[in-house]
Amino acid sequence: MKTISLVIMAMILVSCSGEGGQDIPAAGAGADTKVYRWKMITTWPKNLPGLGTAPENLAKKLRAMSNGRLDIKVYGAGELVGALEVFDAVSQGTAQMGHGAAYYWRGKIPAAAFFATVPFGMNAQEMNGWLHYGGGLELWRELYAPFNLVPFAAGNSGVQMAGWFNKEINSVDDLQGLKMRIPGLGGEVLARAGGTPVVLPGGEIFTALQTGVIDATEWVGPYNDLAFSLHTAAKYYYYPGWQEPGPTLEAMVNKEAWDSLPADLQAMIEVATRAINDDMLSEFTARNNAALVTLVEEHGVQLRRLPDDVLLKLKAISKEVVAEAGEENELAGRIHDSYTNFQSGVSKYHAISEQAYLNAR
Ligand code: CA
Repeated sequence: MKTISLVIMAMILVSCSGEGGQDIPAAGAGADTKVYRWKMITTWPKNLPGLGTAPENLAKKLRAMSNGRLDIKVYGAGELVGALEVFDAVSQGTAQMGHGAAYYWRGKIPAAAFFATVPFGMNAQEMNGWLHYGGGLELWRELYAPFNLVPFAAGNSGVQMAGWFNKEINSVDDLQGLKMRIPGLGGEVLARAGGTPVVLPGGEIFTALQTGVIDATEWVGPYNDLAFSLHTAAKYYYYPGWQEPGPTLEAMVNKEAWDSLPADLQAMIEVATRAINDDMLSEFTARNNAALVTLVEEHGVQLRRLPDDVLLKLKAISKEVVAEAGEENELAGRIHDSYTNFQSGVSKYHAISEQAYLNAR
């Protein structure tokens, strides 16, 4: 008996020692080896470059960081639920996690658009500053809490393009009756300028434009738009993307699923979403220009700048629309004030830093 006890004790000592003789804390009740198998549903076509690969990369990073303890299977739009059903499905726990953009939920929560993008609002760098050091993320969490969701910034495309048009836009009059796919507050601005905004998920845009169901569409920028072959459905490619100057994409986690995770896995989600948020912007920054060269030089795309009077008109309307979005309720008011105050402050500094430098370069 004594010999057996000594052998067991020796085995325990060996199992508690690392290679360098360092003690490894004994595992508790096996809590740190539990595997969490989650589903992440997305608003993007499966593996779409940039937008669709980001959630795949996020899942991959989390699997590696957690040594397989957080094992997330990613679903493209329509595989488990429709693109625009992601918010409700994660809220209800159909999936533990989702990846999309907050402006898609504006019909349900009007102030959500502030956490994706606002026409003539902040760019990617400014959005990240507001979200992570300006109180934005806390307000976003407060906004999503009644829906049982914990949001994270998880991607940014940078300034987008104004979009693809089947006719030239030479004046404000050319917006009259224009049927355009454009989500979020930008769509409301277009409506007040005389157009008809349509909200369609990415996967439905090409066919709608090609068949004439819509006259124009905005999507993202050259890298993503080329992947959708939008240049084969419309000839004129306009800039700048006044409607989406720095759209933040989101990862959302069902609150009960979040609460069920040990602290280390929660920390991994915090870090991995931040990494993906940065990674997507880097990828778009690296790839947009090459895609634009292909569009213009190989496909004969007509690149056009929106005329100044059109931009000025859209900007004036945007001001009204953004102000009204802050009047929906008390929380929307706080979100609006936080966003616009941050933008106003950061714009002043960026006028003498980023902007002054780009002008001087
Ligand atoms: Ca867009």
